[in-house]
Amino acid sequence: TQFCSCDANRETAEQTSHSVLLVFAKEDSQNNGFCWACEKANFRCNVARTPEAALECFKEKHHDLVIIDHRHSRYFDAESLCREVLLIYFYLNGFVDLFGVCCCRPDREEASVMPLIKSGFNRRYVENANMMACYNELLQLERGEVLAQFKLRACNAIFTALEQSQEAIEITNEDQVIQYVNPAYESIMGYQQGELIGKEITEVPKSEKNKPDLLETINSCIRKGKEWQGIYYAKKKNGDSVQQNVKITPVIGQGGKHKDRRKGSLDVRSTTSRGSDGSSQRRHSSMARIHSMTIEAPITKVINIINAAQESSPMPVAEALDRVLEILRTTELYSPQLGTKEEDPHTNDLVGGLMTDGLRRLSGNEYIFAAKQPHLPSHLAMPLSLNDIPPHVAQTMENEDSWDFDIFNLETACLKRPLTYLGLKIFSRFGVCEFLSCPEATLRSWLQGIEANYHSTNSYHNSSHAADVLHATAYFLCKERVKQSLEQIDEVAALIAATVHDVDHPGRTNSFLCNAGSELAILYNDTAVLESHHAALAFQITTRDDKCNIFRNMERNEYRTLRQAIIDMVLATEMTKHFEHVNKFVNSINKPLAALEENGSVKGILTSPDNRILVKRMLIKCADISNPCRPLELCIEWAGRISEEYFAQTDEEKRQSLPVVMPVFDRNTCSIPKSQISFIDYFITDMFDAWDAFADLPNLMQHLDNNFKYWKGLDERKLHSLRPPPE
Ligand code: AMP
Ligand code: ZN
Repeated sequence: TQFCSCDANRETAEQTSHSVLLVFAKEDSQNNGFCWACEKANFRCNVARTPEAALECFKEKHHDLVIIDHRHSRYFDAESLCREVLLIYFYLNGFVDLFGVCCCRPDREEASVMPLIKSGFNRRYVENANMMACYNELLQLERGEVLAQFKLRACNAIFTALEQSQEAIEITNEDQVIQYVNPAYESIMGYQQGELIGKEITEVPKSEKNKPDLLETINSCIRKGKEWQGIYYAKKKNGDSVQQNVKITPVIGQGGKHKDRRKGSLDVRSTTSRGSDGSSQRRHSSMARIHSMTIEAPITKVINIINAAQESSPMPVAEALDRVLEILRTTELYSPQLGTKEEDPHTNDLVGGLMTDGLRRLSGNEYIFAAKQPHLPSHLAMPLSLNDIPPHVAQTMENEDSWDFDIFNLETACLKRPLTYLGLKIFSRFGVCEFLSCPEATLRSWLQGIEANYHSTNSYHNSSHAADVLHATAYFLCKERVKQSLEQIDEVAALIAATVHDVDHPGRTNSFLCNAGSELAILYNDTAVLESHHAALAFQITTRDDKCNIFRNMERNEYRTLRQAIIDMVLATEMTKHFEHVNKFVNSINKPLAALEENGSVKGILTSPDNRILVKRMLIKCADISNPCRPLELCIEWAGRISEEYFAQTDEEKRQSLPVVMPVFDRNTCSIPKSQISFIDYFITDMFDAWDAFADLPNLMQHLDNNFKYWKGLDERKLHSLRPPPE
């Protein structure tokens, strides 16, 4: 239904074309003064010489302002004319709020205005033919009363809407005295307006079907300035209970900005009913909520600020803000929108493969997951000691604090069990056992237990990858900015998270597991399946057996904090959240740091609990996919391993007639250089730019640049392989 509320818009639309009726029996200087003033103020003006002509003209034009000459009673009776004009006005508009000015003689100035007010004049103008005086009077009327009159008319339009609404609406004042009910309310509840208005709502009989504490719940909600919505049994006049879906909204009026301030506020409750019968069918109700202070979430705050700014913005800005709001209302705020299919297929596949999970799941083909019970390493009974590390293994770890450390040497030297050895060395360098109050033997058993649950048959996601991520993590933890930001508990959490972050990885992506309807995908509802599993399994392995429970001696609260940090970091490695983590880091840390001059307040940004979480997430993410920033030979080896793992997945998808998640990773057709260029372009460059800006990593950036050029070189030669063919 559209209600005619043109008056509501007149304030702006017709601001310069108000209409005035001058009723003056004779043309004289006063009459001319007002005519001139109307012209100057750009008001449309009619002049009538007799009451009859005035009424005729008013009936046609119904002016905003009527000025009647009251100086010469011998010509006509100004007061009765005013009454008649008002009457017409009433018939035309249904209410009386016309603005009438009476023009009187100076000798009447002292007389009471009461008779004039009674006949409907709102204002007395003492004779003054000076044209500027007339003009000033018109301007003041326009800015004050006439404007107010338009607002009143707008109100009237709103009340018309209320009257026509099919929803039952009740308005009370702040003392819960009923001020208004609309006809829909009357017909649904069986009351007449007159029986309710002026009554407190507590005086109206209530249904016994409501829970006893419901009213108190509602009241306390309203007292806090919050809307209440829910099912309520209302009692009709005939005693029947009607179940209604009710919304109650506190309306804070002018001056009532603070939600606890009750003066000047109204409570509006509306129970809408679509049916007109009184049956106990479920009623629906709704009501406009007008509030200024109850803001639930930061995004609501942002949207409210933009809404408010829109009101005073020029059209193009308001329209731009509309588009901003549209974007803000989506949930995927941090995921770049990848264009259509003609974009690079490698990027498409990587994004499809790494950034989506279960929504394309197929039923039927069960992917048989690794052993249900975590592995126990066969050599757990005889834990290794740091002293037992064979010299040739120890030798490969001598430069483990350098970025150029070669993990593959260690892998070969220790027969594919690099995590335990490197873990022992790095954990001892960071004093992890001391922090956890845990014997070194427990740490050794733990490392062996975790490593045993990495699949050595995966070409990429095996314990060497975990050792590599642990190495990168330790390297980043030594950077000055990172040290300033994190505390020891954060460092310990980061080292443990890196160690466990891919434990029991099946060598398949989340999308694959979801498509295959694997047990894990079912368990974790197709959401962050692998990352949830890595974190959960890590704690199972750790706490299942005292011999490897590195947390056993921790104080409860400290354990909880540490556990939470580890879980958060492992979950942060999930690639669907890649852009969210990177963008939050840039917005909350890099940008504020860049905005600051070099002074002490840097510390505040670095060490706030929220920002420490963002630093830790970024740290483990960068460590996890730092292989494109390693020295070229290492980078090439990692690229070969991840490609092989993807190829194996594609092979299996084809074998099992599952959807092929990343078709470009087909061993018969794939260009590895192209896939690496896309991976670097899409995921790596921005993230490492941001991480470098924070942690200062020129050597990594140099490697990244070299490696990128290497892949570009191969691609320009149209080579698909990891290396150029021998000369
Ligand atoms: P994670 O499984 O925790 O190691 O997460 C990192 C993601 O990035 C994995 O899905 C990897 O498959 C992917 N990834 C890492 N390095 C590369 C690379 N060089 N090329 C393509 N994808 C990679
Ligand atoms: Zn990983």
